[in-house]
Amino acid sequence: MDDRECFDRLDSTASDTEDLFEHFERRTAADRTYHALPNARHGIERGTVVVEDTVVRGYPKIPRILVLDTGIPTFFENKLAVEEKLDGVNVRIANVNEPLAFTRSGYICPYTTARAKELLAPNEFFCDHPEQMLCAELVGPETPYTTHDYEEIDSHTFCVFDIRDCESGKPLSVSDRRRLCVEYGFPQPRLFGRYRPPQAVDGVRDAIETLDAAAREGVVMKTLHGEKMAKYTTESQHHEELAYAFSLPFDRGREFVFSRLVREAFQAAEFEADDDQLRERAHRLGEAILLPMVETIRDAANDKSIGERFTVRGSPQQIDALLEHLYDQSLTLEIDEITRENDEQTVEFVKVAEATRDQIHYYLEHGIH
Ligand code: ATP
Repeated sequence: MDDRECFDRLDSTASDTEDLFEHFERRTAADRTYHALPNARHGIERGTVVVEDTVVRGYPKIPRILVLDTGIPTFFENKLAVEEKLDGVNVRIANVNEPLAFTRSGYICPYTTARAKELLAPNEFFCDHPEQMLCAELVGPETPYTTHDYEEIDSHTFCVFDIRDCESGKPLSVSDRRRLCVEYGFPQPRLFGRYRPPQAVDGVRDAIETLDAAAREGVVMKTLHGEKMAKYTTESQHHEELAYAFSLPFDRGREFVFSRLVREAFQAAEFEADDDQLRERAHRLGEAILLPMVETIRDAANDKSIGERFTVRGSPQQIDALLEHLYDQSLTLEIDEITRENDEQTVEFVKVAEATRDQIHYYLEHGIH
């Protein structure tokens, strides 16, 4: 089938197919040529892909609630489910003659594809439900994209939080999706409960306190049919993200930092009734900002690597495919350590943060802004 026919099926707000098509990038991976949309356009989500005669819709943006007390009843009219939000990377796994894993921005990632085939074994699911895609979070300390630690995960795993029609993006209901995850043995996020909006305020607050105590990310609230979603995150998550941003201060945009300070301030205003508690929180926030930045300046002064450090494991072929995929995206990598046991290889690498490295070296050498 002509690729262009797929663009017609996308149901966009563009005046004609050509107008939409010009925003798609042509890419190749895994011996396939495909088209991906790097930014949302004409009502079509970022990361939407057309590969051969299959359309894989991007995962929608999830709005954030800033004030639970007013935000939940304003946003939700009907009952909602509260699920844990896991801190990892969004992956869509779709059946394009074989399972393929797509990143949020619509790249086919060969490494993630191979790991998803191994860990989720989705063939039986796709035999029974060929039109659906699995939306999963790749989580754990050993992934090529994020490194958040979870007590129960040694290396990495996929957690399925959504099942959607590949072409229309329409989700299954929360209960159908959770039932299918059990049926096919897919790990899934914890469900805290189902609430009417007024009761959900306390329900979410309790869940957030439990998650925060365990340094976990937060929750996603979803209408029971799965169409409408909103997210809310913990203090520890805000601090972790700020620590990350300030460890690479000249590579992360100011908007990234400001938005996290705003969500932290609204949560502190709503949660910290006591002035002493608020002051302690301010202290924790200050540490999250200053300590990582000073550490990076000192690392640069000692000529250490500046960037994000990752560990990945897999077969030598999987690791080679991953490194090639990352180099294709023009990343500068420093490969630090390679161990091999039987057919499993472990590699540590740094994605070099060039702007931070160069800017800090400049300031250290010249001592002037
Ligand atoms: P968005 O565009 O959705 O705001 P983002 O990357 O800016 O994306 P995030 O804070 O990462 O925002 O939150 C959205 C992401 O959370 C989803 O794309 C998904 O990968 C992830 N996620 C983790 N757990 C869940 C869950 N239980 N339900 C839905 N999404 C989840």
